[in-house]
Amino acid sequence: MNKLKLWDQHQSFDAAEEDWDSKASDAAATNPIKKLGTLPNMVGMTPETAKNLKWKSLKWIVKEDRDRKILKSILKHPIRYFKGYLKSFFKPKPFKRVGDFFLYGTDSLDSFKKLLKNPDSLFVLGFSYCHKPFECPSGRFTDACMHDLNNPTCKQCFIGKAVHALPVKQSIPLFIPTIHYIGGKIFDIIEQNPDKQVLFVITACEMTLEMFGDLGNMVDIKGLGVRLDGRICNTMKAFELSEKGIKPGLTVVLDDTQKEIMEIIRLRRDVMTKEENL
Ligand code: SF4
Repeated sequence: MNKLKLWDQHQSFDAAEEDWDSKASDAAATNPIKKLGTLPNMVGMTPETAKNLKWKSLKWIVKEDRDRKILKSILKHPIRYFKGYLKSFFKPKPFKRVGDFFLYGTDSLDSFKKLLKNPDSLFVLGFSYCHKPFECPSGRFTDACMHDLNNPTCKQCFIGKAVHALPVKQSIPLFIPTIHYIGGKIFDIIEQNPDKQVLFVITACEMTLEMFGDLGNMVDIKGLGVRLDGRICNTMKAFELSEKGIKPGLTVVLDDTQKEIMEIIRLRRDVMTKEENL
């Protein structure tokens, strides 16, 4: 497998993206992957699910924290995290919403982009497993992604495109099977990098972005949740099944939102390239 990122094989971001998109079209012509025929018209969350959602989220975190990883991490700085959690918990919403983006600890997309210009910060780019293609060679309900340039499914996959465009330095791509997985990873990254600001862009269903915003605010990291469309989870039952890998539907990042994410990656790549050339 060719491990070199496609974007590292080109002189400019635009040339790399053109090459990617052309290879994606070729692969779609010969080995098309399953896609949603039409976008279902689903509410982000059913009214029943929205009731007492903060309590339901807290209960889920505690109940499913089987190895106590989240609890142990919180207990390393109990006062700081407790204060952060309470401050967020009593706000009507733990985020500000701009289109498909849910903003945590930042006021606007522009403010977040300014933070990304600090080359010393760490950039976490996370993808919920539910928008991996059904044909994903790494499996859908896993934390793996081989983003193989020779694999026809990877060639058509937005996750593959974003990972190939992401600079290597100071960037951490994550493929997220469960809430406890991403929670544990974020705690690890913070603990291993106490002097660095951790910034994130993570795709997830609207319901999940509502449910776990308080936890992000608790650890005081700044970033964007990106709303998924398609066959999202909008009930507790669907969410609980999805957390166990039962997710027969496919979610998608809408085209315009994909473009916005690619612009964020472009910005970050420019920053890191300049840093390397200093
Ligand atoms: S790029 Fe990653 S997520 Fe996408 S199909 Fe390939 S292995 Fe799966």
